[in-house]
Amino acid sequence: MMCPFCRHGETKVIDSRASQQFVIRRRRECLSTDCSRRFTTYEKIEESPLKVIKKDGNRIPFDREKIRSGLEKACYKRPVSESQIETLICDVEGDIYESFEREVPSRYIGEKVFSLLREVDQVAFVRFASVYREFKDVNDFVEELEPMLKNEFHQK
Ligand SMILES: [Zn+2]
Repeated sequence: MMCPFCRHGETKVIDSRASQQFVIRRRRECLSTDCSRRFTTYEKIEESPLKVIKKDGNRIPFDREKIRSGLEKACYKRPVSESQIETLICDVEGDIYESFEREVPSRYIGEKVFSLLREVDQVAFVRFASVYREFKDVNDFVEELEPMLKNEFHQK
């Protein structure tokens, strides 16, 4: 930690305490003998990222890019713009962060993507459904949609 007064590279922590939830207050002292000034820093603990609960119970970090890659494949050569895809991902993300605090079942994400994509483009939706096996490895959430997809195709 650099001293904010003299830019000396070495300081020492002389006191440390949690001042409020997720924030740690540290009292520091500059180790330069010419300076020796004291100052306070606040360290905010980074919020733990959202985890996705897979069907097998394993947890993986939520990754919006996985949703994007699936959607881009589904919307290839369809009249769906980049910004529509981005909006869709944001809607899914916003919904997840509103409804879940730390962990979200993969199935929930998949269903959300499906229902929103259906409103945007029917062909992309069916394509997303029919090629879902292909991105099973990268989009783990999709694998749980099989029962739902069966119903979808039976209706046609
Ligand atoms: Zn200093």
